[in-house]
Amino acid sequence: MNQAMNSRALQVAVVGSGPSGFYLADALVKQSKKFFDKVHIDMLEKLPVPFGLVRYGVAPDHPEVKNVEKRFTELANSDQITWLGNLTLGKDLTLKHLTDNYDAVALAVGSPEPQLLNIPGEHLGYAHSAKSFVDWYNTSPDCFHYKDPPWKLEEIFNVVIIGNGNVSMDVARILLTKAEEFAATDMSAWALQKLWKSAVKKVTVVGRRGPYQSAFTIKEFREMLKIPNVVTKVQPFPLVDIADSPRKRLLGLVHETALKSSSTEMTAGSKTFALEYGLRPVEIVHGGVVFEETQETSPGVWEGTKRHREFPAQLVIVSAGQRGKAIPGVPFDEKQGLIPNDRGAVLGGPRHLYCSGWAKTGAKGVIATSLADANETAATMLTRLAAESDLGESKPGKFGLAEIIAARKLEFVTFRNGWERRINQTEKWKGQDLGKEREKIPDIATMLAVATVGSIGYQSSCKFRGMSGVRAPGLEYLEDFLDEKTVMLPGFARTDGIYGNQRKLPSTESQP
Ligand code: NAP
Repeated sequence: MNQAMNSRALQVAVVGSGPSGFYLADALVKQSKKFFDKVHIDMLEKLPVPFGLVRYGVAPDHPEVKNVEKRFTELANSDQITWLGNLTLGKDLTLKHLTDNYDAVALAVGSPEPQLLNIPGEHLGYAHSAKSFVDWYNTSPDCFHYKDPPWKLEEIFNVVIIGNGNVSMDVARILLTKAEEFAATDMSAWALQKLWKSAVKKVTVVGRRGPYQSAFTIKEFREMLKIPNVVTKVQPFPLVDIADSPRKRLLGLVHETALKSSSTEMTAGSKTFALEYGLRPVEIVHGGVVFEETQETSPGVWEGTKRHREFPAQLVIVSAGQRGKAIPGVPFDEKQGLIPNDRGAVLGGPRHLYCSGWAKTGAKGVIATSLADANETAATMLTRLAAESDLGESKPGKFGLAEIIAARKLEFVTFRNGWERRINQTEKWKGQDLGKEREKIPDIATMLAVATVGSIGYQSSCKFRGMSGVRAPGLEYLEDFLDEKTVMLPGFARTDGIYGNQRKLPSTESQP
């Protein structure tokens, strides 16, 4: 490698700070050592909070998946990465702002839009996207109805989920598991209260093709089989030779479950998880969904049979995957819902524009999949930059960005002070107040208010926690004197003042 050519500092902007953004930043730092003496990465996030799908996609009962946040936090606090929240590309900043100030720009913006079915009745209000349901229980600021969702779970007995990927497993598990199981997690306290009153008795997950085309994976299916008091029903199907199939174990388990299904007894109070196959949704109607039966007419081709079946449902959840969203100035493949690219280099865009993660591949793969993908994009970017005979003058990076931020009066959030010391800390305190892991701030205005320096941020933090400068000490110690079986109902612990012995909060120095 020509060290002289590459001795100047490389400035890279990564847009998006979900797993794909952080893995890309990590890969760039590691791989750049081969090509450049110095690299600095600015990560721009549209929300005032980091971690994207790890925070807003991963189910609350999968905390082990969220452990990657520790590594991402280390990265964001390292000298080579600067995280800036509340800056949206296409709204606050243009692509040109970034290409002018950085040697390369990488888009790790995910697939934020739910895939629609485009069938009659979809917009009548009976069906909701899995994304809106996940946004609700995960307290995403994209959810505008977190206190009063359009589904009245206390009046819903039958739920039909269309599509059988792992997101539908997450939604089915949340609907069929006792709410108590989530009480100590970071699930929204508002969602917990509604799930507590849920009358859901049956969740049916419907695939448009056969069992062999199930999109869920074995770990998630096993979790469904382990939910107490839930009986799994699958129509028996012939097991063909799948010796070479990587999905052999999954299909074996689904097949075994189907065989057991007919003899599994329902007991009083038990709920049902049903898997249905070979059904293509054709219309959402009041009180249910109409499907057309399908069959495989030639290998891989599934066609309608003109035979219809209607499934009753007071709630229909469309879990047909996610797609990307076009950004002004960035090429976008409408059909596939992603950014067209060659191993991460954006096709048809400005020079040195790259993409990574779901924005590049479409919405498929687990969080760890975006690690391999990030390595590929980083290699493409660095090889191309290193091959430039003259990279020109050093780019200003965040110093150039700062001028744009000042000129446009943009309000941004920093990692250490805005996120870690204020928003993150406030959410943890609020969780402590409620006897749970964390209670996320649901809206951007409150996040920004809490992230503000000085007394405004402190007062906003107290306001979010429902405190007026004093709180009862008992709130922190409820867990110690309530027995193990006591249900820590959200809201229960928040009756400020009733435990007497009010005491002052710690001084403002130790608060954000
Ligand atoms: P997915 O795995 O792509 O599943 C989408 C499902 O929707 C498939 O069953 C698909 O059927 C169906 N579908 C698509 N269009 C349809 C239509 N028009 N009518 C009826 N059905 C339709 O998507 P996902 O569940 O949103 O998950 C996205 C990615 O995140 C996956 O890779 C998943 O594994 C991952 N994820 C992982 C976890 C975890 O590890 N615990 C949790 C959540 C998500 P066809 O197959 O016939 O197209």
